[in-house]
Amino acid sequence: MAKLIKSIRGMHDVLPDDSFRWQAFETAIRQLMASYGYKEIRMPLVESTDLFCRSIGEVTDIVEKEMYTFEDRNGDKLTLRPEGTASCVRAGIQHGLLHNQIQRLWYSGPMFRHERPQKGRYRQFHQFGAEVYGIATPDVDAELILIGARLWKQLGLKNVRLELNTLGSSQARIDYKKVLVDYLEQHRDQLDDDSLRRLDSNPLRVLDSKNPAMKEMLDNAPALIDHLDEESSRQFDKLKASLDATGVKYTINPRLVRGLDYYCKTVFEWVTDELGAQGTICAGGRYDGLVEQLGGKTTPAIGFALGMERILSLLESQQESEQPQTVDIYLVLLGEASEVRGLRLAEEIREQLPSVKMIAHCGGGSVKSQMKKADKSGAYIALILAEDELSNDQVTVKYLREKKEQVTVGFDELTKFITNIV
Ligand code: ATP
Ligand code: MG
Repeated sequence: MAKLIKSIRGMHDVLPDDSFRWQAFETAIRQLMASYGYKEIRMPLVESTDLFCRSIGEVTDIVEKEMYTFEDRNGDKLTLRPEGTASCVRAGIQHGLLHNQIQRLWYSGPMFRHERPQKGRYRQFHQFGAEVYGIATPDVDAELILIGARLWKQLGLKNVRLELNTLGSSQARIDYKKVLVDYLEQHRDQLDDDSLRRLDSNPLRVLDSKNPAMKEMLDNAPALIDHLDEESSRQFDKLKASLDATGVKYTINPRLVRGLDYYCKTVFEWVTDELGAQGTICAGGRYDGLVEQLGGKTTPAIGFALGMERILSLLESQQESEQPQTVDIYLVLLGEASEVRGLRLAEEIREQLPSVKMIAHCGGGSVKSQMKKADKSGAYIALILAEDELSNDQVTVKYLREKKEQVTVGFDELTKFITNIV
């Protein structure tokens, strides 16, 4: 027998019995974003490697060790996108969507990172993200947080909390870096290899470390929030006031720095304690410098991205959900003449009643085997078309889920009959 080929480690199929959960989630997202006036943008899955190096930052987990990078047949260096923001900015600049305009955008789709696969951490995973361009004031920071809060509410998701921080202006971060490096130098003996490397190149990244051995030392490090510039402080206060006014609870986490280099000012994460180490379900922040950094004109920007697998897994553990009815009608066809007429009948029904879900039997077989398939399909009724019915232009209706007498219905009455029962 031929050797089986399996899916790539960390990349998963969504099987037919699970796809309804994805569809419900995607529908909720689409409706929610429309209700806030956001438009969808769809970007390619593959971009120039440069795009991610220049935006996410050379000294980050993603660029250093997680990207799927390869050369195509022309020798161009390409990368499967590890996240959506860089592509969104690239598209916005390329198509002239950003300068002097306000854009409220969302996207969703697969992302790729070569990480160690575990629950809630995959090599192909899916993000839904929102990005707003052209608004520098913290009212829109609040809007993005409120979108998250509303999504959890609409999904019925429980026990998620909001952590909030501000990274200040780029000058504030430069000043703070000196203070932080001084502190880290004093605790050099406790730094792991990654952190030692980053101490010179990107000291803020050290704060993002997940190494438990460094936690206490990092908890005692000086906090950026104590080195803020006035403008960032004022904006942060206004954001907090907006959240207080709309009843969104948050905790300030001065250690929250995010794993990507392009963030400034507001950063936030929605976290849960119910997914172990993969507790962050949604993360975002302001990135006012990125558009310019990628060659566009200075444009304020803010966004978030959420991990769809993590949210679906949380939903599954918190609530029971039933497969929706996928088939209403199963059309049983006995004999060659019925098979031909039945196909036409099915098309006539679909033409008139496009929302009715119907399987027309294919592949022949006895009445017994076809009825078995009808039952297994979950259909509410079976319509049977055999020689007798065919010569009278009618079908026999059998109820599959109720103890009800079978009836015969003429072809000309069929759509009316179906409308009344499904
Ligand atoms: P983490 O700290 O868990 O590695 P991150 O900071 O790398 O997350 P972001 O780049 O901010 O994550 O991505 C936003 C969200 O996408 C995360 O909060 C998470 O929910 C989800 N996510 C990130 N990486 C993965 C992955 N490998 N598998 C599944 N979901 C992921
Ligand atoms: Mg990560």
